[in-house]
Amino acid sequence: MAVSYKELGFVNTKEMFSKAINGNFAVPAYNFNNMEQLQAIIDGCGESNSPVILQVSSGARKYANQTMLRYMAEGAVKMARDKGYYNPIALNLDHGDSYDLCVSCIESGFSNVMIDGSHLPYEENIALTAKVVEYAHKHDVTVEGELGVLAGIEDDVVAAKSIYTQPEEVEDFVKKTNVDSLAISIGTSHGAYKFKPEQCTKDEKGVLVPPPLRFDILEEIEKRIPGFAIVLHGSSSVLPKYVDIINDNGGALKAAVGIPEEQLRKATKSSVCKVNIDSDGRLVVTALIRQVLKQKPEEFDPRKYLGPAREELKKLIIQKNENVLGSAGKA
Ligand SMILES: [Zn+2]
Repeated sequence: MAVSYKELGFVNTKEMFSKAINGNFAVPAYNFNNMEQLQAIIDGCGESNSPVILQVSSGARKYANQTMLRYMAEGAVKMARDKGYYNPIALNLDHGDSYDLCVSCIESGFSNVMIDGSHLPYEENIALTAKVVEYAHKHDVTVEGELGVLAGIEDDVVAAKSIYTQPEEVEDFVKKTNVDSLAISIGTSHGAYKFKPEQCTKDEKGVLVPPPLRFDILEEIEKRIPGFAIVLHGSSSVLPKYVDIINDNGGALKAAVGIPEEQLRKATKSSVCKVNIDSDGRLVVTALIRQVLKQKPEEFDPRKYLGPAREELKKLIIQKNENVLGSAGKA
């Protein structure tokens, strides 16, 4: 039996995005696959009083099961309210790849779905996105589309090279699909290896600095669809602190590079109103688990290493909301 997201305490993205655009911040979208990540997201966004979008990717559905994740998210809202957090929480399908999957998520209580037709020919992307929007809007569910291709690997989403969004297509796409938000490609990419070292320069500390985001494309898009909600995927910064902890405790991450936080902060002051962050959370969790297990090799209780990982992930989320997204205090 179908259930509405409203009964579960979620909201769609309409109001949170209009506040974000008018308030020069972006709503964070954090992916979750397990209980500790979800608790860290809820506590981090609750404590910093930030709106939040919980995201379920296709990899997460394979790992944890779609039904399990949907009930975990329902439980997460209840936990938030029990703790006295009244921030808006949306539940989003990340990179939905078919109409049927979007329908199944909407029927099970998701409040936003992404239909990613970016790999399809332009007209087919329009047709698929419009079909999903037509169904979703009947249920007051909002829809994210995508134009342009991001490089990198995120679960099942793999692309060898990025194809920047063409501003001239954006206006037409939005008009024909009636989509609520649009993911664009301006130089962010999926995963922890966003750029090859030869694409980067080095700063004074020897840290690799990637090529800047294409703010010129973003500006051109904003001119064509002023006030329309823009989404950035693949926006982890791959913080050297956590890469170093991983490598100092038996890991072997070589030349991982992300998007500098200052560039993301600049982007959120435009019509970018949703920023997806996944890899940074993965790095934090892995760093803390490696550190605890190296320091306490006798430990075998998962709570003793997942607990510190959860605590550090919460701190990262608060830091992102305060300093990168600007969403802290905006719930
Ligand atoms: Zn993505």
